[in-house]
Amino acid sequence: MARPEAELLRIADMAALEQVVKGCTACRLRAGCRGVVFGDGNPAARLMLIGEGPGADEDRLGRPFVGRAGQLLDRILAACGFDRQRHVYIANVVKCRPPGNRTPTPDERAACLPNLRAQMRLVNPVIVVLLGSTALQALIDPAARITRWRGQWIHRDGVWYMPTYHPAALLRNPSLKRDCWHDFKKVIDKYRELVDPYHVAPHHPPEAAEEPAGGGAPAAAPGGRAVAGEPAAGAGGRGPGAGAAVEARAEAAAAAEPAGVEPAPATPAPVERAAPGAGGPGGTGPGEANAAPPGVQLTLFDFDPDGGPVGRRGRHRGRRHAGDLQPWEGGAW
Ligand code: SF4
Repeated sequence: MARPEAELLRIADMAALEQVVKGCTACRLRAGCRGVVFGDGNPAARLMLIGEGPGADEDRLGRPFVGRAGQLLDRILAACGFDRQRHVYIANVVKCRPPGNRTPTPDERAACLPNLRAQMRLVNPVIVVLLGSTALQALIDPAARITRWRGQWIHRDGVWYMPTYHPAALLRNPSLKRDCWHDFKKVIDKYRELVDPYHVAPHHPPEAAEEPAGGGAPAAAPGGRAVAGEPAAGAGGRGPGAGAAVEARAEAAAAAEPAGVEPAPATPAPVERAAPGAGGPGGTGPGEANAAPPGVQLTLFDFDPDGGPVGRRGRHRGRRHAGDLQPWEGGAW
């Protein structure tokens, strides 16, 4: 049975909400999965990531983003200096695995949206990363295409939304990693602007920011979107106006993702910072008071879990300044 959304929104803590949602049978997906995959991470995080729905591994283990796509997401987060259990809260648009990892239908999405809204109300994020088209369509615009909207800030009800590719799309089409990293660098910049100016991102130090951190009000985009800067047109970087062939390929890859609205206004508040000197090995420069997540090292780029190419800069990149590096280049993602 579905609980009325008003009832869900009255639930005051995440554990209680999880218990309620785990008993949800509001759509047909519940009958075809092992269990409800609710969410993961820090419910007090200011940054929330929203994907599409559980896959086979998530269904088996009961946690979101624990399969190959989830491992890739963890590496992306590590490159950003974000730890899954400390800096972010992760959820999906639908909480039950669609058969065969198909895309959830609009009615399944709509059935589960109250659950996601209730999660978002409790987390009260200031930044939300929308991973893939399903999350983008569920929360922003049912007609939105991820290839056109990714990399552009959308400001709604006090929350900054950044659409980007789902990690599963990156696994299918690694050429999308460049754009995805570009989008996550914007997320790092926004996090420093709104949450923690001292945030340590081993591969994106503050001096590497590509847009002013306090860049003022973003320009309005067609369709009511608020856009803070177009994607850089650097090597391979492309925005909504890129060539049709490239866009079609990306759309095809992003559309096949396996398996979100209106959040309450949020007032940014600084997150707690670790003691000075606690920075991880990726921390460089003065003023970095917060600790890098465990496991984040400059040698991240030399880690190649999939046995892919090392990258054109070879194996000596650990001695380079982290800001010179592109995480997706070395096969780390
Ligand atoms: S997908 Fe969502 S709405 Fe459907 S049964 Fe599972 S928790 Fe309920």
